[in-house]
Amino acid sequence: MSYQHQYTDGTPIHFPLGKVVCVGRNYAEHAAELNNPIPTEPLLFIKPGSCTVPMAGGFAIPQDRGAVHFEAEIAVLIGKPLSKKPSEEEVLDAISGYAPALDLTLRDVQAKLKEKGLPWELAKSFDGAYVLAPFVAADAVEDVRDIGIRLSIDGQVRQDGNSRDMLNPIVPLIRHIAAHFSLQPGDVVSTGTPAGVGPLTSGESLEIELSGLSRFASRVL
Ligand code: ZN
Repeated sequence: MSYQHQYTDGTPIHFPLGKVVCVGRNYAEHAAELNNPIPTEPLLFIKPGSCTVPMAGGFAIPQDRGAVHFEAEIAVLIGKPLSKKPSEEEVLDAISGYAPALDLTLRDVQAKLKEKGLPWELAKSFDGAYVLAPFVAADAVEDVRDIGIRLSIDGQVRQDGNSRDMLNPIVPLIRHIAAHFSLQPGDVVSTGTPAGVGPLTSGESLEIELSGLSRFASRVL
């Protein structure tokens, strides 16, 4: 199923699907659960737009490459070009919306790549590796430093985080990213996962929400 950015009311957002800029270890408790040190500056990696699939109706996972972990994340849709260390005001003005997303990770593959000091694309950029829900408009969010993200699987809460606990909060994070490379309308910034990551299994039902803003059901096909 092809992906197109849209708002929660179904209105399409006419930006092309760009890259997904991700940050690793942006919550201290998640870094600790995988025995990773806390980075001194944001650990960035990019998923190509081609790995993005819609949350609605369910999503497939690779069956033959070891454990596929869920990472529930707050996704930020960029609506205006940003480059060369924009100001906080410019960043806030460029944000079009917020959505919950799953940054799917082939954890066994990633462990081997990390051991060898190799890039993570094989673990992070496979088709279907970014599962993205529709966006709520940015002006519906009162405080970008207080956005809750929660994931339940088969009725059990597995991840429950808040942007206030990010090591690199959303606006400074986007400033940092844009200081290193340009962001374009249609790009997404995936702001890292709180603690609680774990493997997915076909047939599981998921509920993912930005607390008080939006909520979606999905399933692993
Ligand atoms: Zn992630």
